[in-house]
Amino acid sequence: MSPERELAEPHLRQVLAMAGLDVEYTRAEGNLMYWTDGGGAEVPVLDFAGGYGSLMLGHNPPEIIDYTKELLERQVPIHAQFSRQPWANEVATALNRIIHRELGGDEPYYAIFANTGAEAIEAAVKHAEMDRGLRVAAALDAVARHVEEARAAVAAGTAALDAAAGGAATGGFEALADRVARENAERLGRPPLFLALEGGFHGKLLGSVQLTHNESYRLPFPELAARTRFVPLGEVAVLEKIVEEESGRLLDVEIVDGRVRLTERAFPVFCAFVLEPVQGEGGIRAVTREFAAEIQRVARAADFPVIVDEIQTGMGRSGAFFASSHIGLRGDYYALAKSLGGGIAKTSVMLVRQERYRPEFEVVHSSTFAKDGLSSRIALKVLELLEADNGRAYRTAAEVGARLRTVLEAVAAEFPGVVREVRGRGLMLGFEFFDQSDAESGVLRELSRQGFLGYGLAGYLLRRHRIRTFPTASAVNTLRFEPSILLDDTGIDRLGTALRDVCAVVRDQDEQRFTGA
Ligand code: PMP
Repeated sequence: MSPERELAEPHLRQVLAMAGLDVEYTRAEGNLMYWTDGGGAEVPVLDFAGGYGSLMLGHNPPEIIDYTKELLERQVPIHAQFSRQPWANEVATALNRIIHRELGGDEPYYAIFANTGAEAIEAAVKHAEMDRGLRVAAALDAVARHVEEARAAVAAGTAALDAAAGGAATGGFEALADRVARENAERLGRPPLFLALEGGFHGKLLGSVQLTHNESYRLPFPELAARTRFVPLGEVAVLEKIVEEESGRLLDVEIVDGRVRLTERAFPVFCAFVLEPVQGEGGIRAVTREFAAEIQRVARAADFPVIVDEIQTGMGRSGAFFASSHIGLRGDYYALAKSLGGGIAKTSVMLVRQERYRPEFEVVHSSTFAKDGLSSRIALKVLELLEADNGRAYRTAAEVGARLRTVLEAVAAEFPGVVREVRGRGLMLGFEFFDQSDAESGVLRELSRQGFLGYGLAGYLLRRHRIRTFPTASAVNTLRFEPSILLDDTGIDRLGTALRDVCAVVRDQDEQRFTGA
């Protein structure tokens, strides 16, 4: 077969080629990536895509490279499954210290390691479902015990059926017991339900893609995993309505004053509420402190856990280790990935609050590569680097992010008809363009109608300005800026110049300049 034939995702390559984004990078360092031109010279590109959030420390951070080399030279055991793994434990301990510092409290969080972001989410979801199942089983045990007690009391003549025992009184106690068993079995047949936010992104595996709001990713696969109901950002009333509509009850019996009565107890139908503190792929949209508090209030009342997905927001990008700490959002679970591997290792972790933790989970969930000796040690090193000097990295993210934001806002102010909004926090910023579906320029109009405007603009920025950025996956008119903490003022100014140019192209509908780049 001809070696030129593209077999590794050829369709994607074609789509990238349409926007001029199909370049091959030959080296990367810090915030720069390089391609090699025809004469063998390196062409530097300033990277604001930041590995979609995985490069908080930049490409190939020297400390991580040196440490990785040292580990490999020392021949540390990398695949040491089912042995003591103190490195993983140290990662968990460090993460606990950070949670307690940023969010208060001292309740321990247990850690389950995985390889990717979607996997950490799925581990959290599986754990939450195991916990839900055990809570259902405990509730059913209690019901069975109460039915037995009532049956014995009726037989002994110490209790009689209450006339209002759900109308089953006429059939005697066994009719009542049958009804309890039948209706509870029906309720048990209902699958669990997830809650998540509109615009949210939590991965593309079988389970996680059902939590991801984007229909083009989710809708082909609904039969493969549990259903999710989506809540619009900030809409507490919708959340409350969904909880009311979906909440289930189990039937139970109790003896009060010598009467056997029918009662109800809550049936935990909700597996979990999953959310990002700042939606990354959803267009860099932040959850407010007020909405976070309302979600927690509803979750407590209905007794379902909150899974905080910090896969893109976490690891310091927001100016604190956890973006949720800015809005006082405390998770029963946290998921971390991306920058946890320092841009080198693939690793992820989910953390569960002690009160909800089910140790049985450790036996039923694992992966060959999870918690391996190399990535655990690298993760520990990453945490050390981030925490050094009292969290200098977080302060840098906040300061550099503020300077970057100032420039983005200045450009937005200069092009009010072109730029809709600048959003985000720290080194996670979004720059939203107005839709161009009715644009004068046929090229911009078509790109916009096909949902490719952001990719088209990103292609222009790459070709003309050697700047790499991408739209967010589910809000394609928003360009994302997620550089590493190494970004300096020269880089920020370069971006400002490039954005002014692309905004002028859109304002002037300058097709010639746009396609000539
Ligand atoms: N959650 C969030 C918030 C993400 O941004 C992503 C990746 N963009 C994921 C989950 C999935 O992570 P991964 O691609 O490593 O599976």
